[in-house]
Amino acid sequence: MIRADLHIHTMFSPDASIRPKTIVEQLFTHSHIKAAAITDHNTIKGYYKVLELAKNYSDILIIPGIEISSICGDLVLLGVAEVPPQSWTVENVIDFAHERDGLVVAAHPYRAFGLGDSAKKYEIDAVEILNGSCSQQLNMLAEILANEMALPGLAGSDAHRADELWTVYSEIQASMDLDEILRAIKRRLVKVART
Ligand SMILES: [Zn+2]
Repeated sequence: MIRADLHIHTMFSPDASIRPKTIVEQLFTHSHIKAAAITDHNTIKGYYKVLELAKNYSDILIIPGIEISSICGDLVLLGVAEVPPQSWTVENVIDFAHERDGLVVAAHPYRAFGLGDSAKKYEIDAVEILNGSCSQQLNMLAEILANEMALPGLAGSDAHRADELWTVYSEIQASMDLDEILRAIKRRLVKVART
C-alpha cells in the first residue's frame, strides 16, 4: 500500500510558488507519504523538473500529471506526461488521456472551475473527493458525485504554496509502480485521508 498526494502545483503554474526541490526533499523525509503527482496548470515542465531532481533520492515516486483548464472545468490527468493539443473540450482531453492509458479526474468538481454535475456526461475515471483547499461541504458533494457515478474517489492537497503540501492523501493498494497505481485506482482500491 502506498500513500500519495495526487494534486500538486509547482512554480511552473502561474499561480503557484512551490520549488521542485522542496517537493522532492519533503517527500523523501515525509514519514508516510512517498508518492506525489505533479499536476501543474496546462504545463508539464514542473513534472519533468521534479522527476529529474527525484533521481537523486531513493524510495519516492513522482507520478506524471497535468491539470487542464478544459472548456467546461478543470481536469487532472494522471499518468500523462504531455500537454493535449487544443481545443480543450472535455471529450478531446479525455480521449487524449485514454489513448495514453492515463486517468481523467474531475478536479474539485463543485468549486470554481469544477465540472459540477456535468461530470456525469463524460467518461471520467475518478472524482477528487478530498481536495486540500476545498471546504468540507464541497468535498462532501464531490463524494456524493463519485458514489453516484460508481467511480473511485481521490485526494490531493492542490497545494500552490509549500505550507499547503501533504494536507491530504490517497491510500492506494499498490506498490511503488505507476502502472500498478493507475490500475488500482481504476479498480477503486483507494481510500482518502487527512494528514
Ligand atoms: Zn489544482
